[in-house]
Amino acid sequence: MAEPTVFERIVAREIPAEIVLETDRIIAFTDIAPQAPMHVVVVPKSPQYRDVVELAAGDPHLMAEMVQAAQAIARERAEGDFRLVFNTGELAGQTVFHVHAHVLAGALREGSLA
Ligand code: 5GP
Repeated sequence: MAEPTVFERIVAREIPAEIVLETDRIIAFTDIAPQAPMHVVVVPKSPQYRDVVELAAGDPHLMAEMVQAAQAIARERAEGDFRLVFNTGELAGQTVFHVHAHVLAGALREGSLA
């Protein structure tokens, strides 16, 4: 068995996080190193998919749920508009190989891609 990712450990409540939304399939929490005034990470609870390409092919409905969660969070915690970023692959900055969406609102930090 592979080591659990940091996100699996947050789902299991082994690592504390500021959880902002939770459903039966999704959890969302503030990013530990925010790159924008609002920076929340939306994560499927299951570690089944490593990245958005796998998720889109395997469970497009779950991907749609993530987008809906992002919209609900941006409406509640920001002005409603948001950026959705899926870093996909190491060279694109992905560090956690458990698919997740960065939901960003407000001005980005200069030079940041996240
Ligand atoms: P990636 O670089 O894979 O696209 O995004 C991983 C994100 O997870 C990063 O923005 C990083 O700051 C965030 N992150 C990593 N470890 C933790 C943690 O323990 N708690 C929280 N809340 N975020 C984390």
